[in-house]
Amino acid sequence: MANALNHWKDVVCRTVEAQRAALIELSGRIHRCPELKFVEHRAAAWLAEYLEGVGFTVDRQAYGLPTAFAARIGNGAPQVALLCEYDALPGIGHACGHNIIAAAGAGAGAALAAVVGATGGSVVVLGTPAEEGGGGKVLMARQGAFQNVAAALMVHPAGRDLAGMHVLALSQVEAEYRGRAAHASAAPHHGINALDALVTAYNGIAQLRQHIHPTERIHGIITDGGQAPNIVPERAAGIFCIRSATELALAELKKRVLACFKAGALATGTELHLRTLGEDYADMWTNQPLIETYAANLQRLGRQLANGTPGATAIVGSTDMGNVSKLVPAIHPMIAVAPPNVPLHSVEFAHWAGTQAGHRSVIDGAKALAMTALDVLCTPALVAAMEEAFARSAGSRVGCHDPTAVL
Ligand SMILES: [Zn+2]
Ligand SMILES: [Zn+2]
Repeated sequence: MANALNHWKDVVCRTVEAQRAALIELSGRIHRCPELKFVEHRAAAWLAEYLEGVGFTVDRQAYGLPTAFAARIGNGAPQVALLCEYDALPGIGHACGHNIIAAAGAGAGAALAAVVGATGGSVVVLGTPAEEGGGGKVLMARQGAFQNVAAALMVHPAGRDLAGMHVLALSQVEAEYRGRAAHASAAPHHGINALDALVTAYNGIAQLRQHIHPTERIHGIITDGGQAPNIVPERAAGIFCIRSATELALAELKKRVLACFKAGALATGTELHLRTLGEDYADMWTNQPLIETYAANLQRLGRQLANGTPGATAIVGSTDMGNVSKLVPAIHPMIAVAPPNVPLHSVEFAHWAGTQAGHRSVIDGAKALAMTALDVLCTPALVAAMEEAFARSAGSRVGCHDPTAVL
């Protein structure tokens, strides 16, 4: 079996090489046409068309989402899911490099299509829209996208080759205050100032930030601060991100942030309306046997994971892949496309995502994902070890928390 596995690994790597030009073209095309969350119509269509061309059966607009897809090949268990993200950021294009995630996932799919008939098992390439705030994977999961999936794999670009990022649980909330308008000079005593309420809350949150864990983050913007300086603002609103190391810690932190919002309303006599925006993102359980398998395959390609080496500080962020990792064994490794000092979500990173270094990560990412998927398809002992590690993570979760609860 080991010999057969090595042979198939050679075949998938050769297949990715044969697809090199097509994959780089696909990555470049998505990079040049950045589309925002939930309207990635062109990227989803191009990927679906490519996968159909290499033998997949494609379900477009899958799981009720217009820009999701599910491309399937092979039969039965184990089933490996390869995830493609392809949404961009407002104003700065593909500054998270999701064009690379998309092309690497599609390339791994094309490579596996060449061998899955011989190995047995099946592969599904999932087009997962709206990672940047919409929670596409959460919505797809709710419709059963990860049922019967043995492993969920993707690769995300970064400034280094890493086993993953430091994934924080995230909730995004909108706070809206309603007061009463009045002439700010002629009759200020008739007014109830909604902006004052929001400023009080904002300052409370700024003070709270001194006394939260180093892994926690609270940051926000004011989206409505009134209409004119000579009218007491009757409405004010802001959007805030709240992040914590785990879903449970996030629930606790949300209570403290809620107290700040309530303080603003209490101090001013305004009405507070709070709502959660989009889906809450979970922290991530990186599946250890699976990431070790990925690391070994990446090493075959001459890349080495930088985790644990001096100076390799963690990348801190949030992703809906965290929610997937609570359902099935999953990994979210990072692949180097830019120098280590170039942060994600910067104009510089958007540039690197379209360079030769970006192209190399599409090819290496596709090969590493395909080889890791092969290990899962061909090694029952690995599947068992993954399931055991997943069960351990699930067992260590203390208490329960409804991630959909509003503050
Ligand atoms: Zn991002
Ligand atoms: Zn991203």
